[in-house]
Amino acid sequence: MSASVDVAGIKALDREQLADALDVLGEPRYRTEQLVRWLYLRGATSYDEMTDLPAGLRDELAGRFPVYPPEIVERRHSKDGTRKYLIALSGPTLVETVGLPTSGRLTVCFSTQAGCAMGCAFCATGQGGFVRDLGPGEMVDQVRLVAEDFGTRVTNAVAMGQGEPFANYDATLGALRLLNSPNGLGIGARHITVSTCGLVPGIRRFAEEPEQFTLAVSLHSAVQETRDRLMPGVAGMPLETLREALIAYANRSGRRPSLEYALIDRVNDSSAELNALIEFCRGLLVHVNLIPVNTVDSSGFARSDDEVAARWIRELGEHGVEASVRSERGADIDAACGQLKQRTQRTT
Ligand code: SAH
Ligand code: SF4
Repeated sequence: MSASVDVAGIKALDREQLADALDVLGEPRYRTEQLVRWLYLRGATSYDEMTDLPAGLRDELAGRFPVYPPEIVERRHSKDGTRKYLIALSGPTLVETVGLPTSGRLTVCFSTQAGCAMGCAFCATGQGGFVRDLGPGEMVDQVRLVAEDFGTRVTNAVAMGQGEPFANYDATLGALRLLNSPNGLGIGARHITVSTCGLVPGIRRFAEEPEQFTLAVSLHSAVQETRDRLMPGVAGMPLETLREALIAYANRSGRRPSLEYALIDRVNDSSAELNALIEFCRGLLVHVNLIPVNTVDSSGFARSDDEVAARWIRELGEHGVEASVRSERGADIDAACGQLKQRTQRTT
């Protein structure tokens, strides 16, 4: 059970839980959508603003489920247009969120947990440890604040900030549904992506969800020993089991997941590693995303030469595996993949 239920107030509840809470109070179901609109479409900061809800109900809700309005406490602008935010949720909880504008689009990379328990060797979040799960509304709040800050609609949302989304599965799914809802942010399901370090039970559940959400899996090595070393949180989980889950996912959902692979000089970029990746992808419907590893303090990892990624793409292509290099955004403000740190104290 996540600790967020105690600390997130109304933002701990997904749409079904909001409906149940209103039901217990004897309210009709349509109130749920009213509440969702107030919280996530309009970004109400208190029940006082919700003037079309009966005063008695507002008092009741305020007592049981406080609204903790999120607040941007720090904002950094990259020269490429990317913005990184430090956002205060309830109490002392701070998370980082990134807004990535591209022509005609705005993508928000949001966090699903404060910190992360997985401890991946190359990731700043993993190095900082785990603080707590976020509630669904706390994830949606991050996306909404970025939309407000850019003054434009968010077209894409990716659960690729801090945390492991499938270690907080129910809340993450609740958030995806609110992001997708016309009464929430109205983002198309196909434009909402979850990235997991490869928690197989989560992948299996995700395959059963009716919406066309997109899945990305962080692989980083198709050699068991290398992967176990880089990703201690999933060490011991056989790569073959992950592969089977990906086949089942593609069959069940009809969707093509992507595999993320951060290329690290002399760690996972040898020919043997490439061959293992080609073998892993054989018969799989996937897209491989190569990411030149972003440097993180003290990890000691360096990115592979650019020539490595180009060669890998060529060779993967020759074996029928679609691959591309993810363009790096926001590295000058530590907003690129893996550079989000868990901070515990406000600096402003
Ligand atoms: N916990 C999830 C989602 C958040 S991490 C996951 O691991 O998938 C988002 C992505 O950034 C993942 O693919 C992750 O492997 C990648 N990443 C982490 N640290 C990185 C680094 N230093 N350089 C490049 N990518 C990194
Ligand atoms: Fe957690 Fe993902 Fe970072 Fe690994 S890469 S520590 S799973 S946030």
